[in-house]
Amino acid sequence: MAGRRVTRKWEVFAGRNRFWCDGRLMTAPHPGVFLLTLALICGTSALHFAFDAPYLAARVSAALPAAGAALCGVTLAALLRTALSDPGILPRALPPEDEPAPPRPPPRAREVLVRGRAVKLKYCFTCKMFRPPRASHCSLCDNCVERFDHHCPWVGNCVGKRNYRHFYLFVVSLAFLAVFVLACAAAHLALLARGAGLGAALRASPASALAAAVCFLAVWSVLGLAGFHTYLASTDQTTNEDIKGAFASRRGAPNTNPYSRGNACANCWHVLCGPLQPSLIDRRGLVLDPRDELPPRFAQALCAQPQLQPPAPAPAPAPAPAPAPAPAPARHAYMNHSLDLDPVPLHEVCLKVGGGSTVGGGGGAAVAAGGALSASRLRLLHDTTMIDAALDLDDPEPPRAPLAPPVPPATRPALALSV
Ligand SMILES: [Zn+2]
Ligand SMILES: [Zn+2]
Repeated sequence: MAGRRVTRKWEVFAGRNRFWCDGRLMTAPHPGVFLLTLALICGTSALHFAFDAPYLAARVSAALPAAGAALCGVTLAALLRTALSDPGILPRALPPEDEPAPPRPPPRAREVLVRGRAVKLKYCFTCKMFRPPRASHCSLCDNCVERFDHHCPWVGNCVGKRNYRHFYLFVVSLAFLAVFVLACAAAHLALLARGAGLGAALRASPASALAAAVCFLAVWSVLGLAGFHTYLASTDQTTNEDIKGAFASRRGAPNTNPYSRGNACANCWHVLCGPLQPSLIDRRGLVLDPRDELPPRFAQALCAQPQLQPPAPAPAPAPAPAPAPAPAPARHAYMNHSLDLDPVPLHEVCLKVGGGSTVGGGGGAAVAAGGALSASRLRLLHDTTMIDAALDLDDPEPPRAPLAPPVPPATRPALALSV
């Protein structure tokens, strides 16, 4: 009996990414430049190991080839990890099955306050959702990417929240590798040229001259890039934000970066060594139900975080069989995840209401007191800010009808935003 054909989510993925090995690996739609990068690194390293390394191992130190091999291995591993993994793609919101198209387009922007700083959430008409803070839509890959840094053709992928650390490691190790190969080739040629002249040395080892030329041309831009990304990591900025001047002072007024931890070490630690969130697109998952979008592994991992634990739930007054609340924690965990504010107490994220006043931000008292939302507060939240929908990526447009019965406090930990 023939096995039943299953469809995996990568096969019906809405973006333009290409998938390999049954969805285990993914790249941008046109990975040609990435293959060029790979060929340049492998080719130059092969010249080094074939010609310079044996000569220098015999004449200088046997440790040199080992150091070169280690550098080359780290560089290639970081490149492949950056290029072939999910950069932090946000799954598109699903259209409601039984509702007609809205009569008018949804509002284009909403605002939240992050540590007292207003942050605009723009609506993505392709992904049908409000982008979480720092996310942006890559026009080449056609996806919204969390903490979008830039689309890098050299690595053949977007650089975002989930692969930035590997990209940074790639750039820094490539800078070291280029300097190392250039120095070894120069040393090889200098030793050959002693007494015979540079011309004779070049004729004796043209491969060293070729490797030195490639590294000499590449090393300046790679060193500059490594320095630039070190600056970005130490200030917890993205290339996208730096280019747009998102945190540049305006008309003399300070414009601080609300995501910064306050010092370079803490920023570097958070950006490069913080917890790595699982992929949201679950590309190897089976397509069972079009609404089955959130990977259970992801929901479990997030619900295990301490700050997502709900305040002590009130004991159920009656043994009424409550409906299974399984999806709710996952969806709101999703919301918290997208805010990427793990070191920030949730009460520091608050909502800006139309008249300029703010909801929340009044300290953690309400959170400490286990301030869950009442039905009227929840409706106010929807009617005035729609923040619940803004961050709940599965459901960008909240229902106009009266809200569903309030979810018990135990299922709404993320909304204990001291409202
Ligand atoms: Zn988008
Ligand atoms: Zn991209």
